[in-house]
Amino acid sequence: MSATARRLGLLLDDISLEHAEPAGHPERAERLRAIAREVDAGGFWDRALRLRSRPATRAELEAAHAPKLLDLLERELPGQEGHVDADTYFAPRSWEAALHAAGGTVQMVERALAGDIDAGAALVRPPGHHATGDRPMGFCLVNNVAVAARAARAQGAKRVAIVDWDLHHGNGTQDIFWEDPDVLYVSTHQYPFYPGTGAVDEIGEGAGRGATINLPMPAGAGDAEYEHVFARAIGPALRAYAPDLLLISAGFDAHVRDPLGQLRLSTGAFHRLTHRLRDAVGAAPIVAVLEGGYDLEGLATSTRAMLEALEGPLAAPACSQTHGR
Ligand SMILES: [Zn+2]
Repeated sequence: MSATARRLGLLLDDISLEHAEPAGHPERAERLRAIAREVDAGGFWDRALRLRSRPATRAELEAAHAPKLLDLLERELPGQEGHVDADTYFAPRSWEAALHAAGGTVQMVERALAGDIDAGAALVRPPGHHATGDRPMGFCLVNNVAVAARAARAQGAKRVAIVDWDLHHGNGTQDIFWEDPDVLYVSTHQYPFYPGTGAVDEIGEGAGRGATINLPMPAGAGDAEYEHVFARAIGPALRAYAPDLLLISAGFDAHVRDPLGQLRLSTGAFHRLTHRLRDAVGAAPIVAVLEGGYDLEGLATSTRAMLEALEGPLAAPACSQTHGR
């Protein structure tokens, strides 16, 4: 691996702020403002390729979602506000924000597959990993990472891997790729916890059997447990799968400061875990997509730690020595 810095793509658009939360909701626009301040402080814009999002096309969305659901959302959401379930709100411009979140993630993937960037981060709202093929839930309207994975496949990527380190299990992503052998879905998550899925024996079905890997973590687990699981399970699985593209469902609610769960990752852990993923996928590009993370400081500093690890040289011997190729 080269010791030179890598080209990073970044997407952080104002349209994501237009998904305006009801008072007191944890999935709030201020999350993205906190990240933006940290990205500014880190000087990333001086070096990164900045992408401006565009809405996902109907065909891109249909690769992951049922036409019936898309018809309903297109009809009911624009210009309106309300809830699709107790947790999942929408504001007048939420549908536009959701289309841009998915479309922006697709663009990042396209630039990564074209070789314009080595790694990228789509810092978007609303998040996506709970949205199933036919049902929005858990703060998520459209499954950004799933739409992007299918777009990557359509563009010629033979195998796509998704590592989801959000505190919560990405039930929507698992559901969409349940029978798909060409997209490996790997999740660490607090378990048992919302949304209830993600047991270790959920491994996919049919042709997709074995292409879903769930690594449930007990409440209280922290850096040491995650380092172990990434070194012993996720690294080897990624090496064996040899994806053309790695997507990270990058939620930061497993941070010790987060108010929603009981996992205890430090900010530095997100740097080290990102290095482990880079080490495991070799030259394949990596695109991170923002999911959860509800403590502003934990969210923003952890996002920065991940970006620094995506961008910088893969130098830390501690990351590669213990499990060399
Ligand atoms: Zn989460």
